[in-house]
Amino acid sequence: MTRTTTDLVASGRINANGRNGRAASGRGPVRSFARYRYERMAKAVVRLVIAGIAIVSIIVGALFALGRAAHWGPFAPGIPEARYSAQSWSTIVVNRWHRIPDDYPAPELTRLANGQQVDSRIYPDLQRMFDAMRADGLDPEVTAGYRTHDEQQQIMSDKVFLYENQGMSAKDAEQEAGRLVAIPGTSEHEIGLAVDLNAVGASDADANQRVYDWLAANAWQYGFILRYPDGGTDVTGNQYEPWHYRYVGADAAKDIHDRGITLEEYAR
Ligand SMILES: [Zn+2]
Repeated sequence: MTRTTTDLVASGRINANGRNGRAASGRGPVRSFARYRYERMAKAVVRLVIAGIAIVSIIVGALFALGRAAHWGPFAPGIPEARYSAQSWSTIVVNRWHRIPDDYPAPELTRLANGQQVDSRIYPDLQRMFDAMRADGLDPEVTAGYRTHDEQQQIMSDKVFLYENQGMSAKDAEQEAGRLVAIPGTSEHEIGLAVDLNAVGASDADANQRVYDWLAANAWQYGFILRYPDGGTDVTGNQYEPWHYRYVGADAAKDIHDRGITLEEYAR
């Protein structure tokens, strides 16, 4: 039998307006034009939001990358800046968690007889302390005073090089050096308020020990504190250094000495 087009229409396989649509089969409602417009708008909004987030992410990412390279404040993530005010200059807390602020004023320096330099503001008290030590029969010297950022960087690089030469991986060498040497920008020597004190020549362990003992007992009277006391590593971030003294001024030094605390705890 030959089927004609008319037969197909009549049998309902193709509906009257030529479409095999839902309307004809009755499976669900017809999408209204308003709904279609709403859905299209919603999709457009979602696409806009995604594009917006992507653009903002790219800009923020670029700022962080640039910031890291140029050391810009909030766009240079890493170690936060130490709190600094000109009024409380002597109690600034610079440590492995707080770097020297970008706007920290370059210190005016006084050069000692052996060539080391210190912030001129601590010099008179340092001299008084040296006079007292000599009067007690000691022969001390400042073996490290002010260091520039570059000098601190050099000390760090030398230490890393030494460890790498001993067979450590670059990463391990850096980590090990970081335990003993302050990361550049986080050393008190870079602000000129810290001094390493040893016996002249520093070859005799007993002579050094006599200097350390004297300092532990008396330095506070001249405005200096033992900055990294034994057992204080968790608080100061540094191992015990009996030679490293920090100028904090007479009042703070007395308080820190009397209470047996660290500068971190004093400044809290
Ligand atoms: Zn030191």
